[in-house]
Amino acid sequence: MSEFEKIETDFLVVGSGIAGLYTSLQLSGIGEVKVITKDEIKESSTEYAQGGIAAVLDKEDSWRLHKEDTLEAGDGFCDEKAVEVLVKNSSKRVKELIELGTQFDYIEGELDLAREGAHSRRRVLHARGDATGQEIRESLTKAAKKDGEIELFERMFLIDLITNEQKIRGALCWSDERERYVVYSTDHVILASGGCGMVFQNTTNPKVTTGDGVSVAYRAGAEITDMEFIQFHPTAFHSSNGSSFLISETVRGEGGLLRNEEGDRFMLEYHEDAELAPRDVVARAIVKEAKKFEKDHVWLDVTHLDDDFLRGRFPKIYQTLQDFGIKMAEDLIPVGPSAHYMIGGVKTDLHGSTNIEGLYACGEVASTGVHGANRLASNSLLEGLVFGKRIYEKIAEEDIEKERSGEFDLDLPDFQEETGKAADLKDQMRELMMDKAGIVRKEDELVELIKRLEDGIKSVEDLKGFNPEIWESKNMLQVGKFVSKSALMREESRGAHYRADHPTKNEDWKDKHIVFDREHTEGYVT
Ligand SMILES: Cc1cc2nc3c(=O)[nH]c(=O)nc-3n(C[C@H](O)[C@H](O)[C@H](O)COP(=O)(O)OP(=O)(O)OC[C@H]3O[C@@H](n4cnc5c(N)ncnc54)[C@H](O)[C@@H]3O)c2cc1C
Repeated sequence: MSEFEKIETDFLVVGSGIAGLYTSLQLSGIGEVKVITKDEIKESSTEYAQGGIAAVLDKEDSWRLHKEDTLEAGDGFCDEKAVEVLVKNSSKRVKELIELGTQFDYIEGELDLAREGAHSRRRVLHARGDATGQEIRESLTKAAKKDGEIELFERMFLIDLITNEQKIRGALCWSDERERYVVYSTDHVILASGGCGMVFQNTTNPKVTTGDGVSVAYRAGAEITDMEFIQFHPTAFHSSNGSSFLISETVRGEGGLLRNEEGDRFMLEYHEDAELAPRDVVARAIVKEAKKFEKDHVWLDVTHLDDDFLRGRFPKIYQTLQDFGIKMAEDLIPVGPSAHYMIGGVKTDLHGSTNIEGLYACGEVASTGVHGANRLASNSLLEGLVFGKRIYEKIAEEDIEKERSGEFDLDLPDFQEETGKAADLKDQMRELMMDKAGIVRKEDELVELIKRLEDGIKSVEDLKGFNPEIWESKNMLQVGKFVSKSALMREESRGAHYRADHPTKNEDWKDKHIVFDREHTEGYVT
């Protein structure tokens, strides 16, 4: 049995993105908070968010309009109550963020609100042009570091939750810095571990997004739902060396046009909103147009926009493209779809509670129902704030248990350095997932994919000893199986889920969700 270090805490928060940091700042008012993150604090999807955060702040806007837009994007599948919670709280939460130190962009003394695809009003706050996520993450980190009740642990990998009779007792982690297992003894764990973009070969997400939270929660007995709905961002930069980064929707919002290999603008043939059509429509149109010319990308054209405007409005994108030798105002930009956002996740109620007592989920890892079958742009940063606050409000009503029973008898596997086999498994599955569970899905391909994933899961189980690469590959294969199994079960096309063999919506599936838990490893429909 390997040794472990034990740390007691009132609250363990997993993740240093917007959901984790903001929720920690709330909880620190009622107890001691430990925040763990598996890489450096900044490594999170939050850091890379560009477009902005949606909030009802304009005189012309209302929560009803924001609700309508969210429901419309969600393709008839949102939980209306969850959406109301989201939109009614948007302005309060964003104002709090400003009070915490986040500096959004202003124009003539007023918040500069942008209009993004599928939003009927200008309601998207942004910061430093297109560095919104970075500004939010930096301001929240600064506030957390100043807070005497919050302690941040970098390179601390959550391996598994420790439960007893469906109640949280703690969490088992691996610390790279201490080179040992660490057990947090706590009655409250807030999972804010983000999404699973890395499960797909092409993704806009950073490398930490391996779906650990979903897999860990499942192993502990939580319910996982709506995993077939993965949003693909239509316009990630496709470089010749395979690296990818997001070209925000706001570039199309400011007039960017999509052109095929022959230079023709094609989106008007697919949707009346053309380049600003819902993301799934744009993503499928791009795949179709690219395939016509046997390419994996189309072209984004902003050459009709002024160079100074582009540099000022999109400083980060402008600079990154320049590093790749592309001048925004002169050159066409190669773009194609990449996995961007995990809509499903750990099933929660409207206060972020799961079916395990003491386990909460918040942000991208949670499935609250707000995004339905497709997420409205800029609603996800907001979700982290709104539901983080509600988790705090729920816990604040409780009498926080200060005495914990605290004895753990854990049989821990030996740590090992060797990572080659696990890394290979990851690469193979990412390619397969992109190919067979990506933008266009079909029964026979999903069946073959599931078989390959199940073989992969067995291979990981056979690996002796453990390290983060092995844990990640195990989690990614499990999450890949949830995505592909539910994509196979849902015999219709809705929102971000498209089946070439069932290309239309089927009303029988309108209110149906696919759920996995330890008793239903192959999923059931509810
Ligand atoms: C390029 C890009 C642009 C985007 N633009 C926008 C936008 O403009 N507006 C918008 O609303 N949304 C946008 N999104 C989506 C949005 O950024 C994310 O949904 C949101 O930031 C998720 O926040 P989070 O706190 O839930 O997770 P994250 O910010 O991803 O944070 C997750 C954290 O959990 C940690 N973690 C994961 N697993 C473990 C583990 N096993 N142990 C310990 N720690 C772990 C990670 O290291 C990370 O710190 C964008 C996403 C990307 C990738």
